[in-house]
Amino acid sequence: MKFGFDIDDTLINLREHAFHIYNDRLQQNVGLDVFHALPSMEIHSAFGLTKEEGGKLWSSLRDDIYYSKCGVFPHAREVLHALVDQGHEVYYITARAKEHTDRTREWLIANDFPVTDGHFYCGMSDSEKVHIIDELKLDYYFDDKPTVLETLSHLPVNVYVKDRSYNQHLQIPRITAWDELLDIIKTEAG
Ligand SMILES: [Mg+2]
Repeated sequence: MKFGFDIDDTLINLREHAFHIYNDRLQQNVGLDVFHALPSMEIHSAFGLTKEEGGKLWSSLRDDIYYSKCGVFPHAREVLHALVDQGHEVYYITARAKEHTDRTREWLIANDFPVTDGHFYCGMSDSEKVHIIDELKLDYYFDDKPTVLETLSHLPVNVYVKDRSYNQHLQIPRITAWDELLDIIKTEAG
């Protein structure tokens, strides 16, 4: 089967990583309890920044956020390798900007994710992901972002939301920890 994954905040803990970097650069000490309660994807409000200030800060720190030591969610790597070992295809579909395509792919490989040639898509807008997911005829797709997930309901693909504070309102199947995935496909293959 074909499995598609968003990367940021689906497989890796990017916003929390950025939250630490913001604390460091802004010389603040905002607690992770604030992070875990954020109702929106953007983290700037936790630091008293406006949307514009937050956008500027994110842009200025983007390379550091993307390519320093961002944590991987527990079991994500192991489960993706297990899928490949079982003969499944693993695809990555990230809306990071096009100029980050090569470095993001290299980061995944350097961080021991299984990356097959031709299975890495980067640089589309959130609203364009649906077309790639459709054309690839994925069996499963996983993402954290409501505005992406909301575009997929008409496709035959099994869509799961990666559980985060800002997507609690979505009424679609939910994956909380990556070690649940192998059981999900076992059950469905039943
Ligand atoms: Mg994401």
